[in-house]
Amino acid sequence: MRAPISIIPDDPSPSDWRWQVRHAITTLAELEEVLVLSDAEREGARRAEAAGLPLSITPYYASLASRTDPACPIRRQCVPRIEEATEVEGDLRDPLGEEAHTVAPHLVSRYPDRALLLVTDRCSVYCRFCTRSRMVGQDGGARPLAELEPAFAWLAAHEAITDVVVSGGDPLIMNEPRLEAILKQLAGIPHLGTVRIATRAPVTLPQRIDAALCRVLRLFPATWVMTHFNHPRELSPESTRALAMLIDHGLPVMNQTVLLRGINDDAATLTALFKGLVARRVRPYYLLQADPVRGTSHLRTPLRRGVELMRELQGRVSGIALPKLVVDTPHGMGKVALGPEAIVREADGVTTLRTFRGEVDYVDPPR
Ligand code: SF4
Repeated sequence: MRAPISIIPDDPSPSDWRWQVRHAITTLAELEEVLVLSDAEREGARRAEAAGLPLSITPYYASLASRTDPACPIRRQCVPRIEEATEVEGDLRDPLGEEAHTVAPHLVSRYPDRALLLVTDRCSVYCRFCTRSRMVGQDGGARPLAELEPAFAWLAAHEAITDVVVSGGDPLIMNEPRLEAILKQLAGIPHLGTVRIATRAPVTLPQRIDAALCRVLRLFPATWVMTHFNHPRELSPESTRALAMLIDHGLPVMNQTVLLRGINDDAATLTALFKGLVARRVRPYYLLQADPVRGTSHLRTPLRRGVELMRELQGRVSGIALPKLVVDTPHGMGKVALGPEAIVREADGVTTLRTFRGEVDYVDPPR
């Protein structure tokens, strides 16, 4: 692990989020200093330096990883591998059809009542499974407010939109004045009921969560924080503090876990993750089938695996700890929830249900 020593005179300390961002590992040489790389990782990092989804790992997130084990679930999420060069049938550059559903610059609308505002292309850690690998870390950084004006105007003109997801990139990589300006603009649109901040900062940059940020997030009356913990190892003392601070400032926190091959695709890992989140007052909301992003087939599971896992978890994990298994279908066709199918058969007002203990009949009342 890189020594947590400040090398710039005005550099605060590793507990400051700016230090974490400034000292992020972004090159193969820096990665070799902290991890013993496999050939597949070394080639992957070389490729990431040259093209495609860049490499960035905060010293904090790297500290959660095994120094020697390439199968480590933290490493698999953030260290590029040569398999990213492989494209398979079904891979898509823009799996959710966001470009086709762009209604104003940096604004996507795929549902009648929701919109997605992409306010930056930067993240503290570039996740190797990222749905927006086509654009994150590519150009421009935080979008200037003037560039977002047409998006605000579109939202103001469309009263059916009541919920805006602020995403990117990671919006919490931006400074408070910029976030404040965006949230004040959204708060000025009377028909917006909810703003959701989609962020991995509690996972990869928990130092970012402080009282000043929480106060800014509360500038919109109903801000929800949607985060992405994928493995129980990410539930560290630092992330636990960050979650508590958000929640204690009145911000509801929900978690979307991406189902990832060799990382969290087993019932014991998911059980520990979901129970760990609930113990921290975070509701596991979705278990997402990984999107078919080009170059991520080595991280994805077959659709059926998620259904099997939900069957294993059903009845063994309480309702508040059990997320919905969801597929965000290709080309922006929308999300669908998957089984396991509970209805075995239906006949003459008697429905046979499958529970985790076995099959049982449910008898309807007489008509
Ligand atoms: S933080 Fe989100 S947007 Fe950024 S790389 Fe990870 S998944 Fe993609």
